[in-house]
Amino acid sequence: MTTKEFKAESKRLLELMINSIYSQREVFLRELISNSSDAIDKLYYRALTDDNISFNKDDYYIKIEADKENRTLSIIDTGIGMTQEELENNLGTIAKSGSLAFKNENEIKDGHDIIGQFGVGFYAAFMVADVVTVISKSIDSDQAYKWESQGTEGYTIEPTSKDTVGTVITLQLKENNDDENYDEFLEEYRLKEIVRKYSDFIRYPIKMDVTES
Ligand code: ADP
Ligand code: MG
Repeated sequence: MTTKEFKAESKRLLELMINSIYSQREVFLRELISNSSDAIDKLYYRALTDDNISFNKDDYYIKIEADKENRTLSIIDTGIGMTQEELENNLGTIAKSGSLAFKNENEIKDGHDIIGQFGVGFYAAFMVADVVTVISKSIDSDQAYKWESQGTEGYTIEPTSKDTVGTVITLQLKENNDDENYDEFLEEYRLKEIVRKYSDFIRYPIKMDVTES
């Protein structure tokens, strides 16, 4: 397994995310939920034009799973999933991202002020996690793949197994230190608060499951 490097702009955005100021970190959840919702939309639209795919609204949801013992937070969706190529192209480069605010150099310098306002995309996960693992199975593939990254060093992709189409994104939360504490993102009341604040308009059910340590 080889580690691949992120494209240059991706590296810069990652660095910004990793060093983001504390109060804005909660928006990572908005970004991941919005991607999950988009992925379910894509499957819905596919079903409209493909008779082989049925779309039963009740089968489509987003789930947030917190594991206090392992300090992991997972965002699970039953959306369209990603092929190996899509994992590579969509998560390996910022060019694919709608994070338009970051395309301008000056805005990157002032990035701290705009994180909260604009969609910063998938890399927002690195505001709270030091390892991000994406396990995904595309509607167009029988094989599932695991994408993993510890941030600016790059990422790996390898085959894995997953029964159902969709995506599981698992964040290994950063270690707490004297100044910063990430445990709030394992608390049900706090997760619910963030979901209410930023993701109230999402059209699919958002389930929650917190495993106590
Ligand atoms: P944007 O959502 O603005 O396109 P992001 O950085 O949030 O940018 O995501 C990049 C891309 O990664 C998405 O456009 C999508 O193709 C893919 N992606 C991210 N999360 C998921 C997911 N849960 N399911 C399927 N594809 C995803
Ligand atoms: Mg997005």
